[in-house]
Parts: sequence; structure tokens; C-alpha cells
Amino acid sequence: MTDQIYVDGAWRRPASGETLPVVCPSDGKEFARIARGGAKDIDAAVAAARRAYEGPWGKLTALERGRLLMKVGVKIAEHAEELAQLEARDTGKPLKQARADMVAAARYFEFYGAAADKVHGEVIPFLAGYTVLVKHEARGVTGNIIPWNYPAQMFGRTLAPSLAVGNAAVLKPAEEACLTSLRIAQLCHEVGFPPGTINVVTGLGEEAGAALAGHPGVDFVAFTGSPQVGTLIQKACADHHRACVLELGGKSPQIVFEDAKFESVLPVVVNAIVQNGGQTCSAGSRVLIQRSIYERFTAQLAERFARLRVGSHEMDLDCGPLISAVQRDRVARFVRDARAARIPVLAEAQLAPGVPAGGYYAAPVLFGNVPLDHELACEEVFGPVLSAIPFEDEADAIRIANGTPYGLAAGIWTTDGTRQMRVAHAMRCGQVFVNGYGAGGGIELPFGGIKKSGHGREKGLEAMREFSVVKTIVINHG
Ligand code: ADP
Repeated sequence: MTDQIYVDGAWRRPASGETLPVVCPSDGKEFARIARGGAKDIDAAVAAARRAYEGPWGKLTALERGRLLMKVGVKIAEHAEELAQLEARDTGKPLKQARADMVAAARYFEFYGAAADKVHGEVIPFLAGYTVLVKHEARGVTGNIIPWNYPAQMFGRTLAPSLAVGNAAVLKPAEEACLTSLRIAQLCHEVGFPPGTINVVTGLGEEAGAALAGHPGVDFVAFTGSPQVGTLIQKACADHHRACVLELGGKSPQIVFEDAKFESVLPVVVNAIVQNGGQTCSAGSRVLIQRSIYERFTAQLAERFARLRVGSHEMDLDCGPLISAVQRDRVARFVRDARAARIPVLAEAQLAPGVPAGGYYAAPVLFGNVPLDHELACEEVFGPVLSAIPFEDEADAIRIANGTPYGLAAGIWTTDGTRQMRVAHAMRCGQVFVNGYGAGGGIELPFGGIKKSGHGREKGLEAMREFSVVKTIVINHG
């Protein structure tokens, strides 16, 4: 079944008749095939979504939509172990991470299912004899293009809010990892959505993805991925005067002030860059440390970094392999160039003994005193590479934190309450954590970026606003 696409409530072969390999990053071996969907399949999927939106799906009440979504949440929870095993094999992520991902994937359907019938409009005071209503309506058909780093979570994050407000959707998962998207689509089928409500077309980005982003029958596009592809998506949307939400990654700082409690900061700072092998949009990939504690803090950080263990998804250690040889080579290039620029390596973790040959492993590396104009201080690596950067005072910390092309998330570590608020307000990004850092999860929390990190918001109730449009109805009743 993995080599078929899901369109109009049925599984079918793609028009190309071709398949693509699915490789396990832990050993580099092919273990399944997926369909190579393309423009014709996207045409069929968009037409099916339109029929569902204008037909049976569009006629359901918000309560009925919500109930269906909540049933998906239950199904995911019931199949959590099977899905986690599949996700771990497909992405290489440690099993414990994949298990946590399934809890979050289920939670998206639970959260938006419960919220579906709580989208209330407004009544605006206007001229005498008038009543003005503001309604939130579905956009119609959404095109949802997701990446490979958290496939099951992304399935829930992008589809649940879109469906909750009444859209029908066409999902294009990433070719590197999409097996849980196909499996959860089966579970959605069992739940009994009207045919065409959810369609999943696998394939290459430049084929199926580009066809979806540029399709005239799509009313809104939600995209998570690289800034380069984000630009293409936005251009394709502009051609059709269509809105989109783009989440394009970041270079998120963790700012550690001298009064921070090291023992609470250290494990979180390490996890924020090591979780999912650093392949997380909101990875805390820069740690800014006040000069007065810089040596002491980095020494303790280095000690923890050096102890990290890297292994296959089944070995279930701190870090798995990266998603592909391309990604591993890209990360290795960053590390090589930084070494060549004589940026000090403060710590480097090791691959665990017995790591399968052929996997795409990259050991976590901690660089110190990274110059602000070096790419390690301002470009997204998307791997387990952390840049430590000293700062002098609060103003300096704010300047450095905001000094990259990105603006997704930030962490602030200080026990000074007034400083917490000042710095949080000064951050030019979409999410700020104080004395904590959530790289992932956070279903309830509006999430998204500014600048090169993209625009629009997902997660939380904010995502439901993004996936809907406002209609103002002005009634003159004399
Ligand atoms: P990454 O660099 O993390 O792989 P990408 O931006 O390349 O991120 O991919 C994210 C998603 O966008 C994937 O589903 C991919 O197939 C899709 N994609 C890639 N290229 C295009 C494109 N030209 N048009 C539309 N979607 C694309």
C-alpha cells in the first residue's frame, strides 16, 4: 500500500506508474517504495477535495467535523507503537523521540477536534438600523506541503486545523519520509471522512509539490521547509493571488545570563540542539552566554556534549542518524569549514560502538567563540551543531540574538523578572521561552516566524484563523 496515493477516498497507483525508494537512514538500505505522484495526480486530488468541500464534507456541522477529528486522535493513540516504529525506521530518529511524536500527533487531532465548534464570530456596533456580523469561514481547498523531520506531527499540525474549520485538503509529504502520513491516512479512512476530504499524494518536491503549490484550484497553501523552496511556494501563490503560511526554519538563540541556574539550563540547551539530530526548525542552535560565566558554562556544556551517544533508531540513544546522505554531507561541510576557519571545537560526541554501516551519522559538535559574521552564527545547519557565543550585557545579548536573517524562537535564561520581560519584548521572533525551551510539541502555542523564518502562524487557535477567512455581513433592517 505504501506505493499508492490516497485520492478521493481510495488508494490508487500514480499516473506515472513509477515508484521511489524509501531508505532507512540508520543503515542506508531501501526497505519500501512510495508512489511517484505528479501533476495529474495532484489534479485528481484537488478536484476530489473540491467535490468534498462543496458536497458532503462541507455540509457537516462543526461538531460533526470535530468528532471525526477526535476519532483520528484516538486511532493514532491506539496505533502509537506501530506508528512510532515506522516513523523511527523511516526517519532514523531514536524510538523514544518517535514515541513522543505520536503523542503529539494524536494531540493535534484532539486539540483541533475539540476546538472545531468553538470558532465564534462577532457582532460589530454600526449605524442605527444595522446589524453587522463577522464570520470565520473555511478557505476551501488547502494544499499542505510538509517536510521529513517530524512527518506524523506535521500531518496533524497542518491537516487538523485546516479540516477543523471545514477545508478539504491535499497533502504532499516529503519524499525522504512519508510512511506515517500514508498510514495515518488509512486510519483517517477507517474513521469515515467523506471521500476527498483528505488526499495524500507522495512524490518529488519539484513534481508533486510544485504542481500542488501552483494549482489554480487550491485556495490556500501551508508549507514547512527550506527558505529556498518557501520562496518558490510564495511566488507560485502570488501568481494566483493566494495566501500562504510559510514556516522556514531558524537560527534560534538561547540567551544565558550570569544569574541563570546552570543545572536547569544545561540539559535543556543540550536537548534543544540534539533533539531529532538538530533537524528541528526551532532547534536552539546558538547559545549566547554572558562573558562573566562564559568559561565556566561552556566547560560544563562541553562535558555534557562529549557524553552524548549517537546510534541507530533501534539503539535509541541521544541522537540518531541524519535523514539522508545529502543532509549528512551538508552538515559535515559546515563542520569542516568552521574547523578550517579555526573556530575552536569545545566538544565532539562519538558514534556508539555497533552503529550500522551505511547510515548517515553525524556526531554532535560544540563550537566556541563563534564570530558573529561566520555562517555558523547566522545560517541554519539543520544538524547537531551548537555555536557558543559570548556577550557583554543585556543590550549586547539582544543585538546578537536579533542579528540573523531568521526570527523563529528564542530562549531566555535569567532569574531577574524585569529582565525576563524586557528581553522577551525585545526579541524579534515568533516564540520566546523564559527559563525553558520547547523545541517541538507545544500544540497549543501559536508558532511561526518573521523574516527568513517565514510568516503566518500554525499551532494553537491561531492556526484555525490562518486556515479560514473573515466574511463581514452588513444587514440593514431599518
Ligand atoms: P528540506 O531542505 O528540509 O528537505 P524542502 O524545502 O526541500 O526542505 O522540502 C520540504 C517539502 O517541500 C517537501 O515535501 C518537498 O518535497 C517539498 N518541495 C521541495 N521542492 C519543492 C518545490 N519546488 N515545490 C513545491 N514543493 C517542494
